[in-house]
Amino acid sequence: MEQNEMTFEFDSRSENEGLARTVVAAFITPLDPTLEELADVKTAVSEAVTNAVIHGYGDEGGKIRIHSRIDGNVVWIEIKDDGVGIEDVARAMEPLYTTKADMERSGMGFAFMEAFMDELEVDSALGKGTRVRMKKTIYSALNMS
Ligand code: ATP
Ligand code: MG
Repeated sequence: MEQNEMTFEFDSRSENEGLARTVVAAFITPLDPTLEELADVKTAVSEAVTNAVIHGYGDEGGKIRIHSRIDGNVVWIEIKDDGVGIEDVARAMEPLYTTKADMERSGMGFAFMEAFMDELEVDSALGKGTRVRMKKTIYSALNMS
């Protein structure tokens, strides 16, 4: 596949986490990812969406938007919320840092996204929202000739 693009918007509800993960998985299936690559992408999407639901919106609710683009064998995924935002992004991205330790959060979401994807970029503004951008090359696609 050369290029493909999609946008998917849904309500901030925990029951939509599985939906979001499945939509992205289906979108990248034409690249013929390995089970491991697929699991990596699904985990990263889950972590970002869970963060938008729990931290971004909390009880307030709101819309979460996923924008994904395939370019050759590279997948770009952007997950955006218009929630509370993050005061100190660098700090929030440190492993084990969490503002919700009382809710049994381990502070590993960003660390997982970083580990499972090739690139992770987080932009956030207090009171405006958060945008997580991730990139991953799907190597199995290189082997299909
Ligand atoms: P875990 O993901 O392990 O359950 P966690 O969500 O606290 O725990 P991270 O996903 O690494 O850990 O996020 C770290 C911190 O960054 C969060 O505790 C929260 O304060 C902040 N954060 C992350 N995503 C958002 C978001 N979309 N909106 C607002 N704050 C966020
Ligand atoms: Mg998290």
